[in-house]
Parts: sequence; structure tokens; C-alpha cells
Amino acid sequence: MIRDRFARPLGSLRVSVTDRCNLRCRYCMPEAEYVWLPKSSLLTFEEIARLTGVFAGLGVTKVRLTGGEPLLRHELPALVSMLRAEPRLADLALTTNGVLLERFAAALNAAGLGRVTVSLDTLHPERMQEFARSGRHADVLAGIAAARGAGFERVKLNTVVVRGFNDDEIADLVAFGERHGAEVRFIEYMDVGGATRWSRDQVVSRAEILERLGARFGPITPVPDRDHPAAPAERFRLASGTTFGIIASVTAPFCASCDRSRLTADGTWFLCLYAAKGIDLRGPLRAGASDADLEALIRETWQGRADRGAEERLGVRERGVLYPIEALRADPRREMHTRGG
Ligand code: SF4
Repeated sequence: MIRDRFARPLGSLRVSVTDRCNLRCRYCMPEAEYVWLPKSSLLTFEEIARLTGVFAGLGVTKVRLTGGEPLLRHELPALVSMLRAEPRLADLALTTNGVLLERFAAALNAAGLGRVTVSLDTLHPERMQEFARSGRHADVLAGIAAARGAGFERVKLNTVVVRGFNDDEIADLVAFGERHGAEVRFIEYMDVGGATRWSRDQVVSRAEILERLGARFGPITPVPDRDHPAAPAERFRLASGTTFGIIASVTAPFCASCDRSRLTADGTWFLCLYAAKGIDLRGPLRAGASDADLEALIRETWQGRADRGAEERLGVRERGVLYPIEALRADPRREMHTRGG
């Protein structure tokens, strides 16, 4: 196990398999136009599997497949099978917007995927139309049902809470999760790259979420996650036994235990969601670097890691959007949908 400057292990890798998405969620892709990564620059499944093997050799045990929308990448179950063949990976998960999940749930599970997280920001189809420019709310619900039926260890629901959009649904979403056997994670609206409409007053804080749920459901008990100490979500239990999580990146960042890094679909490795620059792994990979060369590059880079992006943002007085549109267009890897959230 290798550790960074704050003794945080290199434990978890988020692998974006595409920067494309079939939704336009306002907290991630609110603009009309985007600069996409050239298709020719995308890593092949073999390259992703090889790099993942190198990371596993350095201690990575958790891989999460992300996007954009990962189910837009053709033959994704084939990649899952390749990654599943890596014995050092204990946890293989996927984050999806659920629109295509009904079609792929069974094949992904059969290929060896363990866990699925589905983004569900509202229970109202008309709000999804307005907020994500999509009329496919019913498909997302069908995707959640299919994932439940496909036999995944766990199905979780991610909800980005935005004041004035869905903050009045917090309790209803917990109740929905309870009925559908899926644990909801409320995510504070983050000022990451791409969130060009972000403002502090739209953020519903962890404290406010707990207050509202307490008002509806009564006493709430913290649930320490001993199995996943580096997991971003803080978990809680209601008197009914139902659990939910909160990912409080804006008001209570958790950089101190962060073991996560991100690989973009074109092979750029980011040590932090807020990092200004990443490390190109595709170049050396395609230039014939050996696994030992790649291992040395990754080891040295991680051991020099001192990123604590969300904590640093907490200290910014006039906190506004991270990058203006021009800066995002100048380098699309600054976009959250390219880094995989
Ligand atoms: S902001 Fe960066 S260091 Fe902090 S938790 Fe997120 S990825 Fe980790």
C-alpha cells in the first residue's frame, strides 16, 4: 500500500469510460455546447484493464466505473468482465444516471459488477424534464427496479440537493428508497468544474438536510462506516431502521481520509476532483512503457500528493464557480463529466 503526503492510501480509482452523457443535469452540464474528448483519444478496454492492473498492484482494491454516462460506452459488460478477472480488486461498482440501466443490469451483474449507484434527483418527471432536459424519468425508475432484480449486492441512489429545485423532496426520496430497498445519498451541490450555475445560496447543507429529516422522521442516529473509513458518505439511521447518507463536500469536506483518484476516458489521472492539472498515462502507455515504468510514475506521483481541494475551497471568501465557461472549453478535462464526479 502506498501513501501520500497525508498518509492517505491509494485505495480507490474512479474510471471514466466516456465523457459523453444523455442527460444535461443543471449541476453538471447546464450549458448548450461542450467540447468533447476526441474518440481516438479514448482508452481501449485493454488499456483500461492494463492500467487498472498496475493500480491494483499498488494497492487499489476499489474501482468505480463512471462517465459522463458509462452505459453509453458500447459493450461495457465486456470491460466489467476484464476488470472482474483482476483478483486484487475487491470492489467493482458503477455510477449511472439509470436511463439505460434496464437494458444492461442483468449483463453487468453476470459480468461480475458488484454494486450500482443510480442518480435520482427528483421523483417528478416534469422536474427532470426541466432540470436535466430529459423525459426519461420512467426509464430511470425501471432501471432501479431492474438493478434490484438483477441481484447486485447493493443499489444506492445519489441525489444532488439544489435549493429551489428538489430540496422539498428530501424526505420523500428517503421514503422512496425505503420502499425500493435502495439507500439514498444526499450530495451537497458542489462548485466543481462544469457547475457554471453554482452559487453558495443554492447549497442545502448537511446540517439543514439532517434538520429537515429529523423534523419528518424523528431522531436520527449516526452509523459509523467501519468497513469503508474512506467512503465519502456519512451514514445515518432513522428510528424505522432506514439508513441514508450525506456527502457534505461543501460544508464538511472529508479530504483528510480521501483515498480516491480519477482516470479520465482519455487516460489523464487526477489526484483530486478540484485538481487543476492531471498526469497523462495514455502517452507513456502507448509509447511502450512497461508496467514497471507506469508503476514507478504512479507511485512517485501519489507519494507527492497533497491535494485537499474541497477543504481549500472552504477557505475561499467570495466563493463562486470554479471555472468560467471559456476555461472549461479551453480544457474539457476540467469538466466534472470528464472526470467522472
Ligand atoms: S476534494 Fe479532492 S482531496 Fe478532497 S475529498 Fe474530494 S477528491 Fe479527495
